[in-house]
Amino acid sequence: MHTFETLRFSNTFATLPPIFYSTVNPTALPDPHLISFNTDVAALIGLAPAQAQHTDAANYLSGNVALPGAQPIAALYAGHQFGHYVQQLGDGRAVLLGELNNGWELQLKGAGPTPYSRGSDGRAVLRSTIREYLCSEAMHGLGIPTTRALSIVGSPQPVYREQVETAAVLTRVSQSFVRFGSFEVFFYRGQKDALRTLADYVIARHYPALVDASDKYPRFLREVVLSTARLMAHWQAVGFAHGVMNTDNMSILGLTLDYGPFGFLDSYDPGFICNHSDESGRYAFNQQPDIGAWNLTRLAQALTPLMEIEAAKEALAIYPSAYATHYIDLMSAKLGLQPGKQAVPLITGLLEILHKNQLDYTIFFRALCDFDSSPDALNAPLRDQFIDRAAFDTWVADYRAHLDTQHSIDAVRTTAMKRVNPKYILRNHLAEIAIRKARDEADFSEVNRLLALLRNPFDEQPEMHAYAATPPDWAGRISVSCSS
Ligand code: AMP
Ligand code: MG
Repeated sequence: MHTFETLRFSNTFATLPPIFYSTVNPTALPDPHLISFNTDVAALIGLAPAQAQHTDAANYLSGNVALPGAQPIAALYAGHQFGHYVQQLGDGRAVLLGELNNGWELQLKGAGPTPYSRGSDGRAVLRSTIREYLCSEAMHGLGIPTTRALSIVGSPQPVYREQVETAAVLTRVSQSFVRFGSFEVFFYRGQKDALRTLADYVIARHYPALVDASDKYPRFLREVVLSTARLMAHWQAVGFAHGVMNTDNMSILGLTLDYGPFGFLDSYDPGFICNHSDESGRYAFNQQPDIGAWNLTRLAQALTPLMEIEAAKEALAIYPSAYATHYIDLMSAKLGLQPGKQAVPLITGLLEILHKNQLDYTIFFRALCDFDSSPDALNAPLRDQFIDRAAFDTWVADYRAHLDTQHSIDAVRTTAMKRVNPKYILRNHLAEIAIRKARDEADFSEVNRLLALLRNPFDEQPEMHAYAATPPDWAGRISVSCSS
């Protein structure tokens, strides 16, 4: 395990030609203080967890003091925002410190302006930093691919949004922060060589088996199609809405990336829009799989200078079935059933009655883990949640029949189901309580409590039971938008 000073950087992105990035230094923040340090991620990247106590921890993790060997840059990218191409975005407030020699990249989000800031301040507010920190770790706990988060550093520096807030820096960790938009920018500029250089770089780092293949570019695209399909299936199965699925927020590795106005479903509402700025509902919960496909089409288009259009079409064509297969398998597992298409009517039937009865998605599935399949069992804890009990009874008859066919044993199924149906998710109000304590009382204990809780979302953690409840009334008044 390393100290901050002995981390070894290889900085491969910075070895690419300068067309891909700008060299920048983080802008110092006044009085930085460490708000939270994620020892799991520290261990993951080879940083000794005890470095949280290092006298310079807050300085290193805010960018105030340079990490030896880091070579800070801001990456260039473009992207389709709400369906419209924007020709230059880029890391406007993120600084890639560098890549460690074990492949993990360290990025400071909110580290001050860069050449891509487009007139904005380059900062991130404490509120959105806490949300991203907790949610990326919650997603990891849920087994969903995501960028990770190492730390939050706060500062009294004022940041002007709808209200005056204070600045914070999130240290993010990922194998790559390359986005679909990182390719789009060179396609639209007609810079085919740069496109090829970037594709070769990504393939060499992440798909080394393809390096020598004559059809490496279509096969690379195919990998991105598959990982994106898998990610969308995870989001839909767990009930996660990202909120801003612009192509600049789509990871080339199929990771959940750039947490903004995200939200988990409370009661099951397929048309759920978590982002208050998304007036048309382009990124509503039930649109996500299609938007995933639309975004992949933008990536495929950007890669057409490197492949025949037929090859790009073929790669895209695998999306619908890849998505459907993953989604059905995940949903079947949530029902305690074997993978396969046989459960499709049961899944759609259940979602329909959950919607009509406005049942909480997470709480229902967790309660279903304890379903008693004996013919005379009432299953009152489940049944009583429904207004329309007859609809529940009809569905249950069908469910029992499936369980019978698969010779399902209750105790065995319960254990398996509790490993895929979380008890705890990061509901907005939980994040909001942690944010208010941090902001108003400089009390960061709730951030750390949630971090610990959400690391193990499938464990009972009986003393934390209150965190598994439906949201309080005031939660409906929390407004999440792109402002961050
Ligand atoms: P987002 O919607 O957060 O994914 O950001 C879209 C683009 O705006 C990216 O290029 C960001 O780097 C940039 N951006 C967002 N907020 C800021 C900010 N406060 N300062 C500079 N750039 C920003
Ligand atoms: Mg973004």
